[in-house]
Amino acid sequence: MVVIPQSLRAQVLEILHDAHNGPVKMKQTARTYCWWPGIFKEIEQYAHKCQVCNQMAMNPKETHNPWPEPEHNWQQLHMDFAGPCYGEKWLLIADAKSKYPIVKPMKHDTSAKALIKVLDEIFDYFGAPETLVSDNGPPFTSYEMKIFYEKYGIQHMTTAPYHPASNGLAERLVRSFKESMNKSMATGMSKEQSLRTFLRSYRWTPHSFHGKAPAEVLLQREIRHTLSLLKPRPEKEHADEQEHVQGHMHPNEPIQVHMNPNEHRQQQHPVQVTPIARRPVRERRPARDPYYIHGAELGEALTQAGVTP
Ligand SMILES: [Zn+2]
Repeated sequence: MVVIPQSLRAQVLEILHDAHNGPVKMKQTARTYCWWPGIFKEIEQYAHKCQVCNQMAMNPKETHNPWPEPEHNWQQLHMDFAGPCYGEKWLLIADAKSKYPIVKPMKHDTSAKALIKVLDEIFDYFGAPETLVSDNGPPFTSYEMKIFYEKYGIQHMTTAPYHPASNGLAERLVRSFKESMNKSMATGMSKEQSLRTFLRSYRWTPHSFHGKAPAEVLLQREIRHTLSLLKPRPEKEHADEQEHVQGHMHPNEPIQVHMNPNEHRQQQHPVQVTPIARRPVRERRPARDPYYIHGAELGEALTQAGVTP
């Protein structure tokens, strides 16, 4: 995690609010990547003054999930159709364990043939799940779909009639999808770009259920995206460090924060910010550096030092 200099904070807030994420999600993402004194307060202010968010606010509705939590990623998928909205129908799929979402525009074709084509494409990337959950509507319970489920050994589970909310995961995804699409399209973004913005945000930012990014849970590795640039780069990329000894800081330049615990009571500014690229190689080993402060400890240490407003 890095401390963001004042001049770049507005830019970082903008990235955190990508896809019009609410303050809770913005804070969750910030915890992984960046910090500055008073960041959470500024996130609240930023989210609350966004005009698009204020105009398009939807009431969140919690739905009960009666399905047992699956053991593995991609074991149980929930699927549902949404729309017609934005000119067509949409197939939405969510993995019950990782919460990884997939959204496919269907034009106006929600036949079994069209559904099978999309599911086959998804299985090309991720393989077939053990269980598919949907409502009782067509085409999910059609004869063609029964053959399809059998072909992959998929158990098809339907939600209880008159209790559509029991497909809560898919319903929640539909709600998030519409909320994000409404906001993005209200700002003049194209339908395609709005969909990508929604999917990237949902996949790459921490999900309230497990506090992790669904893509990272599913793929079991870190996802590289815009905010990843805030993280210090590996050492081998800093061969030209001498060039950086003088001069101002650059946007996106990784920095390391130091605090001498013996000095913070006497000094007004006990925190030293050093661009990582300008430090000698032997000093860039966080584990051996007693003054290097890791992620979560940083805020606490600064609060103790009386720095946090
Ligand atoms: Zn917004």
